Amino acid sequence: MSLLDVRNLAVTYPGGAAAVRGVDLRLDAGRKLGLAGESGCGKSTLALALLRLLPSGTRVTGEVLLDGEDVLTMKWGRVRAVRWAGASVVFQGAMHSLNAVHRVGDQIAEPILLHKKATSAGAKKKTGELLEQVGLPAARADAYPHELSGGQRQRVMIAMALACDPRLIIADEPTTALDVMVQAQILRLIEQLVADQDLGLIMISHDLAVLADTCDRLAVMYAGRVVEEGPAAQVYEDARHPYAGALSAAFPRIGDPASRFAPQGLAGDPPDPAALPSGCTFHPRCPVALESCAEQDPVLRAAGPERRAACVLVDPPEGEPEATDEQAIQEPEALEEARPSTP
Ligand code: SF4
Repeated sequence: MSLLDVRNLAVTYPGGAAAVRGVDLRLDAGRKLGLAGESGCGKSTLALALLRLLPSGTRVTGEVLLDGEDVLTMKWGRVRAVRWAGASVVFQGAMHSLNAVHRVGDQIAEPILLHKKATSAGAKKKTGELLEQVGLPAARADAYPHELSGGQRQRVMIAMALACDPRLIIADEPTTALDVMVQAQILRLIEQLVADQDLGLIMISHDLAVLADTCDRLAVMYAGRVVEEGPAAQVYEDARHPYAGALSAAFPRIGDPASRFAPQGLAGDPPDPAALPSGCTFHPRCPVALESCAEQDPVLRAAGPERRAACVLVDPPEGEPEATDEQAIQEPEALEEARPSTP
């Protein structure tokens, strides 16, 4: 059984914006999955949906099996426990996520006291251990957020995420606000923690290079769907889907002066989730679109060993049948059985 098994997940915001549409993903303990895509492609919405952190009124369908238990159908008491002990989130911008008027040690200790029912002395000891795990002296527990550097604050955020020994960490752009040197340190720290504690990691970023460097697998999202998925290095170096290729080409590569001086961009923006184009949602921006792409929505299907892509130009591996029109992924059913995301 996988640590995380997401099945046909769909999220629709009030007003009808279909932010996530029919996503299937799996993650095993000790593995790292990168979620890539531009802003507005559904990555953060998907991450928040995993722990039912979306605003009230948002409709969510599908299954989110965490160690076999469906988060979407849990009672709220169980969801609150799972949010710390089962899975936790590291958000970007630690300065905004930490409370400016409380010492960081108290903020790390709070979930330990609440969810682990620890004594004050036990929570303090655990806080010191967590700070040391993330490379900070235990004495920094007495600091206020403004007394720490950006990198130190992000380490505190990671310590908080680890406070109740979760099995899964969801890191949403955890290094975007940091300079390159500190970014590298934080990424290595996250990798080390995942390996040492056999955690599952979902890391979200618009930066394919960072994800390729950190994660085992990559899933590239566009207009709320996964359009390519596979081993991280292969997706980054040899994308099958034109959007994944454009995303990869948008970042300069180390050791490749040509890309450094001429990173290739992609014109336009992702579509409004409330007014998606017909057919392949990428067709208005796709440099190699066919006429039929405005009508036909390709399925996500095998595109090589351990790879999947959703594009009519991607040949299936030998022995795999061609997709038929009927196989095109359907829009999520009318959401009559939709569940609220928050109480
Ligand atoms: Fe481009 Fe057509 Fe492939 Fe969509 S299906 S990515 S529009 S070629």
